[in-house]
Amino acid sequence: MPTQLDKVDVVTVGVGWTGGIIAAELSKAGYQVVGLERGGEVTVDDYLHSKDQLKYDSRIGLMHSLSNDTVTYRNNQDMEALPIRENSNLRNGTHTGGGGKHWAGQTWRYLPYDFEIYSQTVDRYGEEKIPEGMTIQDWGITYDELEPYYDRFEQTAGISGEEGSFGPERSNPYPTPPLKESYPMRMFREAADNLGYHPYRLPSANISETYENPDGQTIYACQYCSFCANYGCDFAAKSDPVITVIPTAQETGNFELRTGSNVTRILYEGDQATGVLFTDLETGEEFEQPADIVVLTSYTFNNVRLLLLSEIGDPYDPETGEGVIGKNFTDHHGPDSSCAAIGFFEDQKFNLHMGAGALGIVYDDFVGDNFDHTDEDFIHGGMVRYQQGGANPMTNNEVPNGTPNWGREFKEKSLYYANRSLVVNFMFNSMPYQDHYLDLDPTYTDSDGDPLIRMTYDFSDHDRSLFNFGIDLCVEMLEEMGADIIEPNEEMDRFEVESTGFTFQHSSGGAIMGDSPDTSAVNNYLQMWDMDNLFVVGASAFPHFGAPNPTATAGALAYRAAEGIEEYLENGGGLLVKERERTKHT
Ligand SMILES: Cc1cc2nc3c(=O)[nH]c(=O)nc-3n(C[C@H](O)[C@H](O)[C@H](O)COP(=O)(O)OP(=O)(O)OC[C@H]3O[C@@H](n4cnc5c(N)ncnc54)[C@H](O)[C@@H]3O)c2cc1C
Repeated sequence: MPTQLDKVDVVTVGVGWTGGIIAAELSKAGYQVVGLERGGEVTVDDYLHSKDQLKYDSRIGLMHSLSNDTVTYRNNQDMEALPIRENSNLRNGTHTGGGGKHWAGQTWRYLPYDFEIYSQTVDRYGEEKIPEGMTIQDWGITYDELEPYYDRFEQTAGISGEEGSFGPERSNPYPTPPLKESYPMRMFREAADNLGYHPYRLPSANISETYENPDGQTIYACQYCSFCANYGCDFAAKSDPVITVIPTAQETGNFELRTGSNVTRILYEGDQATGVLFTDLETGEEFEQPADIVVLTSYTFNNVRLLLLSEIGDPYDPETGEGVIGKNFTDHHGPDSSCAAIGFFEDQKFNLHMGAGALGIVYDDFVGDNFDHTDEDFIHGGMVRYQQGGANPMTNNEVPNGTPNWGREFKEKSLYYANRSLVVNFMFNSMPYQDHYLDLDPTYTDSDGDPLIRMTYDFSDHDRSLFNFGIDLCVEMLEEMGADIIEPNEEMDRFEVESTGFTFQHSSGGAIMGDSPDTSAVNNYLQMWDMDNLFVVGASAFPHFGAPNPTATAGALAYRAAEGIEEYLENGGGLLVKERERTKHT
């Protein structure tokens, strides 16, 4: 029999950005919050001496080990899915701070178009513009409604940035100025200006100057040391949950962090969650943590897995398109530079060893519906970007095609080109399709015997069209920047996780938001339609992926969910949003 713990107001499953935000906001409001985290507790002291490329970059030392539980993967329903065993293909967070410790820090807002993608596409081009099988829908919230929560995330994280020409309306400027502009960034800016585009610096959580956030937490100025994505920041200069929302929650005295606690089920009676069941990973003992409100903040895969394992909500059926849990699983093309071109410069040398996870420059003339798609065979789009993450010592061996990959010629050319090559990439979204989804694997289990979550996902023709469109733009930029040799990536064929170099690190969907329980799992407070004291928070709620990185949108939705939970607790419960309050669009 599991040991029963005392009931609390709120329990969160996972303590990364989203769990940390829920914990901070509700503990500040005076509620008792317990955060259950399968990993250990991390503080900034654990980042000291972390400039070890082999450990953190090559062997992905900060992320969840895939030996006990992982995700299985297949392209389509006719295939048997196999477990992903390489962290280079699946990068999930663990320990307090989750993926927020080792994120790069690009902090984007999605566009007003993203939140109303279905209705705006139909209004401008007609229903026939949406490819067969693509299951886009409006999010049940508009950009204007979400804007104050984006602002809160940015103020908490101290984001450094400058406004772009196509950026959505903002209620406040970025709290800190943009990062410095390196020489290659200036080259990109000039080239983009010459071509008539509208470049600006990436919004960044590697912040430009020391900043105290509204909760009184200090984030220091970025040193451009280049050990950023895949690492924790030992200068405390990359905003993450470990130096912001988690200490804020802890300082209230109302937050209890229980690490080494793996949640295995959501407990409920009828249509009310009563708490969660978890295992202490050190002792193997099982506990029940009762709570008035249960909040899943354990990232896309585990949020959906817990719902399916606990038999909450209607599982999605890819044949009929009915059901919602597992629906609209998708990911993001771009963070891994899968759509990119490399340029080699014979007569120019750059200082590429310095950088930061979100140091870079972009233009967004071809994102969302910023341009006319009438003659294009795709919707939405992407952002053309040069990012200077900083060249760590071990991975600077870019050489032009045709160079042998060992021996004297390789050595000479890799030294010659080490500081003479720049990558321009096109960061775009992958749209949801009826046959891309998450469910429980019928074969593979974790070490406790529970089924792993299974993803069914492939590149679509839509992805390929956007890829080809984007590659041309990357080549155009490198030509204008003066590259002597330009090598674009090869066209995307079948999606194969081992060989395409694609990394699942921005996965979304599976418990999506919307305006009706027919087409969504949660409403626009991320409250389950079927269980009003269960909130499912994170990118699992995105009905589709936008062009850029997801965390600011997940963070904004977490702030909104926290506000909804407070309202729920104060006003005695109930659904916070009426079903089909807006017009249904699918
Ligand atoms: C290398 C890398 C670079 C990235 N760069 C960017 C970027 O530049 N910009 C951007 O926007 N995004 C970036 N991301 C994505 C970003 O890290 C995630 O969007 C973000 O961390 C998600 O926050 P979350 O709170 O939803 O989930 P997580 O941060 O994953 O937190 C979930 C927590 O839940 C815990 N958990 C899971 N299952 C259980 C369970 N059963 N019981 C208890 N606890 C559990 C996990 O251990 C984890 O700590 C990057 C990701 C990676 C891997």
